[in-house]
Amino acid sequence: MIDLRSDTVTTPTPEMLKAMTEAEVGDDVFGEDPTANRFEEKMAKMFGMEAGLFVPSGTMSNQLCLHVLTNPGDEVIIDELGHVFNYETGAAAHLSSIQLRPLKGVNGKLTKELIEPAIRPKNDWDPHTKVIAIENTTNKGGGAFYTKEELLEISNLADRHGLFLHLDGARIWNAITASGIEPEFFGKIADTISICFSKGLGAPVGSMMLGTKEMIKKARRMRKMLGGGMRQIGLLAAAADYGVENHWLLLERDHKNAKLFADAISKNSLFKIDKSSVYTNIVLFDVVKQDAETAVQAFKKEGIGVVPFGHKTIRATFHFQITDENISDVLKVSEKLTFR
Ligand SMILES: *Cc1c(COP(=O)(O)O)cnc(C)c1O
Repeated sequence: MIDLRSDTVTTPTPEMLKAMTEAEVGDDVFGEDPTANRFEEKMAKMFGMEAGLFVPSGTMSNQLCLHVLTNPGDEVIIDELGHVFNYETGAAAHLSSIQLRPLKGVNGKLTKELIEPAIRPKNDWDPHTKVIAIENTTNKGGGAFYTKEELLEISNLADRHGLFLHLDGARIWNAITASGIEPEFFGKIADTISICFSKGLGAPVGSMMLGTKEMIKKARRMRKMLGGGMRQIGLLAAAADYGVENHWLLLERDHKNAKLFADAISKNSLFKIDKSSVYTNIVLFDVVKQDAETAVQAFKKEGIGVVPFGHKTIRATFHFQITDENISDVLKVSEKLTFR
């Protein structure tokens, strides 16, 4: 199957596996895994943050960030399409006793104008607005990314109101590739950042929380509490590092392929697509008459995996393990697909 269901389906290459076997390792619960320690320092430096913490998943990373930023009863402003709001099992309520305030943004992105009226006054009876959580690129929002100006506006707003800014950068690599913004900039505007290595970068496991040394110290204990204290994780950190060094630069090609795919879809009258809404490696499109599931099955019969993303909406996600030959097959099928 040509698997466009997600960029998480990427598997370790032989070279990545080799880097893993050569990693120097130790017990990370004792803080003694040199490869993990070096990689945490490297990522923190890259994003202009004080420290990093390697964790099993982006969900854990997001939740640790929110946990260290909030107290029970606090509120987090987020776009209604946000991963934290939709795909993290309601964890913020359970783990941190906080509530999320979803706003209707544009392609999963918030703006200063949307956020400002949602910031609550500080009465005894109000939840305390504490964090603005943004996603870059947006997942359910179709891979959209923020411009530097948009980020500065939100960050200035957060500063003016004494709020923290959390950045869910599961696909920050795609955002940097598409926007040209330097990684350190994100450390300037955000208080906590979550980054993932197991999507377009192709690592088998791994995400990282970035923040101050104090936040990371607190998060380390919470990670342990959640059962996320791991031992020789240098193996995983080596894979993630290999992905950053060698696969990041391949994302540009994924973005081009997403545009080619959108073009092909636009030629098929069964589908409706706004080609200008393809920003990075994610393509969202609608089925005109039937439902998404029918179309997903039709693609599947042709050997192409895509996922339903709403009643009429389908998501296709491009990644570096889709070959040029795969692409030409996908384009041919997409233009001519029929529902029989
Ligand atoms: C994938 C993803 C995550 C984290 O997912 P895990 O499966 O827990 O690693 C977080 N945020 C966004 C926007 C994502 O796309």
